[in-house]
Amino acid sequence: MNVPLVLTHFLDRAVALYGDKAAVFCEGRSFSYRQLEGRVNQLSRGLKSLGVEKGDRIAYLASNTVEMLEGFYGLFQLSAIMVPLNIRLKPEDYLFILNHSESKVLFVDQDLYDLILPIKESLQTVEHIIVHYKEDATDEIGYDEWLAYFSPETFKRAELDENDVCSLLYTSGTTGDPKGVILTHRNNYIHALSSMHHLRVTDEDVYLHVLPMFHVNGWGAPFYYTANGATHICLKKATPEAIFREIKEQGVSVIHMAPTVLNSLLQYYDEHKPVIEQKVRIVLAGSAPPHAFVKKIEQELGWEFIQVYGMTESSPLSLISRILPQFKDLSEDEKSRLKAKAGYQMIGAEVKVVDEFGAEVAHDGRSTGEIIVRSHGVMKGYWKNERATLEAIQNGWLHTGDVGTIEDKGYFEITDRKKDIIISGGENISSIEVEGVLYDHPAILEAAVIAIPHEKWGESPHAYIVLRENEQVTEQEIIEFSRSKLAHFKSIKSVTFTDKLPKTASGKIRKIHLRNEHIESIKV
Ligand code: ATP
Ligand code: MG
Repeated sequence: MNVPLVLTHFLDRAVALYGDKAAVFCEGRSFSYRQLEGRVNQLSRGLKSLGVEKGDRIAYLASNTVEMLEGFYGLFQLSAIMVPLNIRLKPEDYLFILNHSESKVLFVDQDLYDLILPIKESLQTVEHIIVHYKEDATDEIGYDEWLAYFSPETFKRAELDENDVCSLLYTSGTTGDPKGVILTHRNNYIHALSSMHHLRVTDEDVYLHVLPMFHVNGWGAPFYYTANGATHICLKKATPEAIFREIKEQGVSVIHMAPTVLNSLLQYYDEHKPVIEQKVRIVLAGSAPPHAFVKKIEQELGWEFIQVYGMTESSPLSLISRILPQFKDLSEDEKSRLKAKAGYQMIGAEVKVVDEFGAEVAHDGRSTGEIIVRSHGVMKGYWKNERATLEAIQNGWLHTGDVGTIEDKGYFEITDRKKDIIISGGENISSIEVEGVLYDHPAILEAAVIAIPHEKWGESPHAYIVLRENEQVTEQEIIEFSRSKLAHFKSIKSVTFTDKLPKTASGKIRKIHLRNEHIESIKV
């Protein structure tokens, strides 16, 4: 008999083996795995009483909390579909996603409720809104009060199949409108097995949720840390102060964050040099290139740094940069060089770099092509968007839209997104490579390089720069710095200084906004 690979098994296993162990600490509360299971059963019963059935979409507008964590398992027991909403969108984006996904119930944190208010009357399918941490006198149902009506006893589950859809996850919207990615239990289950293997997750781990659970970057963690009986630490707001406090007080062993957050953490560390008694086992960063701070994390903080690469469409991870045993005797410089890459194929994911005709490029670390992925994690498709699905998945391979190289050791490097490459005088310039150089400048806190129109060369590289506090540098100095480190055609030709770069909720720089802003500034 085939045992279906369904995510409910992960919580079952944790309860069976680690029932009394702390499953989660959240905002001053803590719950054991058995207590968490009880809350999950209450939630499943509550949703059933509202008429929720297999395949129904249930949306969450929530920070990293126990309510969000239990939401996954509460929904899975009914084979309902989780639609997590990014908390940094605009009301009109919520209107689009809630109507597009035809969500039936919406869970929302009290402090995010105002984002929904302007669109409430225009929601076409949402029948119930339930408020976490309800404080005010709105008409909506308060979560705690509502949950208390239902029994924590074992819940009779819906018939579950591994190919059932379990989540509808919208992409970051870095390059345009977010797309709804359909993922199944099987997609997430196999991705979780692979991740827990590569990260060597154990029941001793204490995982700090810094990346949002609503986003695919923070996505697998509720599954693979639970499956191993590890402890989740949930923070509503992951400020650098709070992150350092939790590391110290809770003995955090693994953190996963976006490079931009990691960068701000290091900045805070520089300023305050707090005594970190607890050694973090691993710090993972994905979603964008980590640039120059890799060495600093390992040398100054003594934390192992691992880069990962993935995308919503592949559940998400396909590559990991952890040093393989056969490379552990390489020089420190060579190891750092490898770690700064996106990594090698994770178990279950086949990855290739192909040219425009679909042929694999040479494994020389120089020849570039599109990264394509075939894995158990690859989505079923985009929700209500067959055209985009057909474009993305061709002959079973997911075309990522990312450009990269592969070298003979099997390490891939992401050199750019297809849409971000700068083509100047017929030469391709990787915006990531140029940014990497700018991050080496001591006065630069953040940098984003985009293509701007150029009369002679077609396009030229332009940098948006955020300086560190109390630093002053001129445009000319930055241009000269980039020239001293890069071939002339690659070096930046102009600079805009700014206080802040536009970012997605997971901390990615939205270059599309910078390009539009630049075009507007030329018009003026
Ligand atoms: P959208 O598809 O809506 O434009 P998005 O592509 O940013 O948004 P995600 O699925 O969250 O949405 O992000 C996946 C993308 O993030 C990848 O396609 C890649 O461009 C980038 N990325 C992920 N990991 C890395 C990495 N280690 N290095 C460089 N880029 C990365
Ligand atoms: Mg994308």
